[in-house]
Amino acid sequence: MLLLVVVFDSLKDIYYETPLFKTGLFICIVLIFLINCVVLELLFNYYSRKQVKGLSGFLPQEIVQNQDENITIKELGERFSDLNQQQVSEIDMMKEMESYRKEYIGNVSHELKTPLFSIQGYVETLRDGGVDNLTIRDKYLERIDKSVERLIAIVTDLDMINRLEAGEINLTVSKFDVNLLIKEIFDLLDLEAEKRNTTLQIQTLHPQIFVEADKQKISQVFINLISNAIHYANRQEAKVIVKTSVLKNKVLIEVIDNGMGIKSEILPRIFERFYRVETSRSRREGGSGLGLAIVKHILEAHNENITVESVYLEGTKFSFMLEKSK
Ligand code: ADP
Repeated sequence: MLLLVVVFDSLKDIYYETPLFKTGLFICIVLIFLINCVVLELLFNYYSRKQVKGLSGFLPQEIVQNQDENITIKELGERFSDLNQQQVSEIDMMKEMESYRKEYIGNVSHELKTPLFSIQGYVETLRDGGVDNLTIRDKYLERIDKSVERLIAIVTDLDMINRLEAGEINLTVSKFDVNLLIKEIFDLLDLEAEKRNTTLQIQTLHPQIFVEADKQKISQVFINLISNAIHYANRQEAKVIVKTSVLKNKVLIEVIDNGMGIKSEILPRIFERFYRVETSRSRREGGSGLGLAIVKHILEAHNENITVESVYLEGTKFSFMLEKSK
């Protein structure tokens, strides 16, 4: 630079005031600046790589996997920031899992407590002399039996949902007549329906409709949906209709009731585990709060979805599809 000034200074009389001289001077300054930058960058990179190499023995493996790795300070900084981000999201996930676990255990113990406390109460009354009164004895034994049944239903559903969520349940797909299966489920739930003055009806245009699915699991889907429809009917002339229609390569199944319906704001939540709508309405006896969650899981395992439409105090319709047999 000094040299340039001296050179230019000595030539002052000739060139100093000309535009050519000024342009040349400007270009020279820019060039020197650029060369400086490049040289500094190269030097900085060279020394930073050297420093990082020296440090690599102390750095965690997630940052530097290989001690001979040639990385700059900038790259090192980026790796630290990525690792930090990853750890933050892992912590968030763990926190979420922890709160889910707490909620789950809370729900399970809440569900188990009710029947267990009832059994305890009945047993105490029987022990305190109730056993000598035949009417009380029979009534309480029957109630104990109901509570035990409820406990078994909860534990069976819990086991089923855990296995479904862990992906431990494999589907055994076969070809079967879905209309026939619906009739079999109607026979199974006939007594329940009769007790609640509910008529069960199948609506279809075809005497037989063959589908490809896991028959036993789809039976569970029908049992859960139809028994809910019977239990949440809550009216004199309750009616449950199961409609089957053939679409292109699918079979559409709808379970329709004219029961109490579900308020629109809570509709999206009814498939959650243990979610119950009941506040003022009487809760279904014997339900585990897992029925619809199981239905959703089973259909998802078949790559199908379940949808629900409901008009509060008028009725509810659950719909899903199954693969039509070729
Ligand atoms: P539950 O054991 O309580 O029946 P589910 O998972 O089967 O558990 O159902 C969740 C909630 O969805 C029920 O508590 C009930 O409030 C509501 N529900 C399900 N089916 C119907 C229906 N057909 N009509 C009205 N409400 C329903």
